[in-house]
Amino acid sequence: MLRKLLAATAALVGAPAAADTLVYDVDGVTIGEKGEVVRFTGLVFDDDGIITDLVERGEERPEVDYAVDGKGQVMLPGMIDAHVHVMDIGFAALTLDLSDTNSLDEALEKVRRFAQDNPGRPWILGRGWNQEKWGLGRFPTAADLDAIVPDRPVWLERADNHANWANSLAMERAGITADTPDPQGGRIIRDAQGAPAGVFVDNAIALVGKVVPEPRPEDRDNAFAQAQQVLLGYGVTAVADMGTSVVDWMTYRRAGDTGALRIRIMAYARGVEAMELIGGPGPTPWLYDDRLRLAGVKLYLDGALGSRGAKLKEPYADEPDTHGLPLLTPTQLRNLMSRAAMDGFQTAVHAIGDAANEDVLLAIEELSTSYDGDRRWRIEHAQIVDPVDLARFGKHGAIASMQPLHQTSDMMMAEARLGEDRLAGAYAWRSILDVGGRLAFGSDAPVEPADPFAGMAVAISRTDANGKPFGGWRAEETVSREQALAGFTADAAYAGFAEGRFGRLLPGERADFLLVDRDPLLASPSEIRETRINEVWIGGQRVLTK
Ligand SMILES: [Zn+2]
Repeated sequence: MLRKLLAATAALVGAPAAADTLVYDVDGVTIGEKGEVVRFTGLVFDDDGIITDLVERGEERPEVDYAVDGKGQVMLPGMIDAHVHVMDIGFAALTLDLSDTNSLDEALEKVRRFAQDNPGRPWILGRGWNQEKWGLGRFPTAADLDAIVPDRPVWLERADNHANWANSLAMERAGITADTPDPQGGRIIRDAQGAPAGVFVDNAIALVGKVVPEPRPEDRDNAFAQAQQVLLGYGVTAVADMGTSVVDWMTYRRAGDTGALRIRIMAYARGVEAMELIGGPGPTPWLYDDRLRLAGVKLYLDGALGSRGAKLKEPYADEPDTHGLPLLTPTQLRNLMSRAAMDGFQTAVHAIGDAANEDVLLAIEELSTSYDGDRRWRIEHAQIVDPVDLARFGKHGAIASMQPLHQTSDMMMAEARLGEDRLAGAYAWRSILDVGGRLAFGSDAPVEPADPFAGMAVAISRTDANGKPFGGWRAEETVSREQALAGFTADAAYAGFAEGRFGRLLPGERADFLLVDRDPLLASPSEIRETRINEVWIGGQRVLTK
């Protein structure tokens, strides 16, 4: 008898009965295998958090061990953001945020208060300023900051990440003087006498950045935890991390090892050196149940439009002596892409201006002859494309990884930088789809909020949160609701070689889903922006309830 009992216990321990969970009474929506919309009323997943079945309308409810009442809520796949900077989201949440300031004075007052509230911090670090939004008509200066914080270095990142603003003490610590030359691919903004005025553009940022004290591992863990909460709060369950450093990777690994890694990260190393250090001979395997993988490398080909760093074919309309700042020559770009491709790493190249987009599209065409097969060459942003180059997006499996929210934030600025005549290929989502190209949507958070619902609203309307401009900015470039949802789910997964693992609610994929109060395929843009996320599940586990 006892032996029998022991044997039975052993059998129980050795082979637990598969415990399936059903979430029933939902209004389920997902993108299907062929890009079509699939609707369902229940979802079944197993112990490993993998979907085993969808229940269709009218179908009988399957027998399962656990059942969760969906109470008629809308079930969507977990949102995927195809372009974020995970650690920057976390650090942004921990540092001074100037993105809501509307004037220089307002920003300076915020700096003053932050310095006062944080007396122990050796440096005052922050981000999010934008002199365009302030209507300042010039860059801010070190002197502006000196008047507020003279006794501690201050170092503030511009909203687009492509320029930083220092006070005099920060420049002094970095040894910056009137004799410091502009580095290649960078620019020190100077006053009439040629002295550094306080703003550093693109490759010049590192001149001061290198003396800013590094955060400690525990600061990084804290920042990562913050980032994860921010993302989950927006219903984002997976991201492509665009520019993972070795220490970022170590942070994600620590989170994975301690079970604190909830979201899924498709990582793109910050440059080829980090790629080799993290990946070694090739992309890493998927780690922690499909929560972390190094897929490839992120390369920067130019800067941004706001700081006039984007590389243009013709000079800037509002600064006719510059074409922007190329960060790599065509040869350097090919060498780096080739170095990655030869070991099977995917490349994701930042290209904003029309000249940069042409450069990378030509490089893809050339490299595709040596590196064939399924490469999924990614172009990050692809903001301004010369219409003559658009068709190239339909070839060689190129993927345009674009951020709808940039369009509404940048439209006025893009008009100023380029002039009306050169906007035909600006944020050209529909045109890229029409030539057979693939889109993946993201936010570029923390540059923009990591809110995929706001992103979807813009993608289908080309209007901002106030519904402006009426009828949409260059509205011919809107995409359908279905394409917008795919861009933030299935297509964003595909762009990171994650299809079949997550991004769709289909058998075999991870049960990453949201329960929300409305269906984005049936709602207006302003309604989509107001979507209430009630629950977030990842791998069959509830990770957030509101
Ligand atoms: Zn970015």
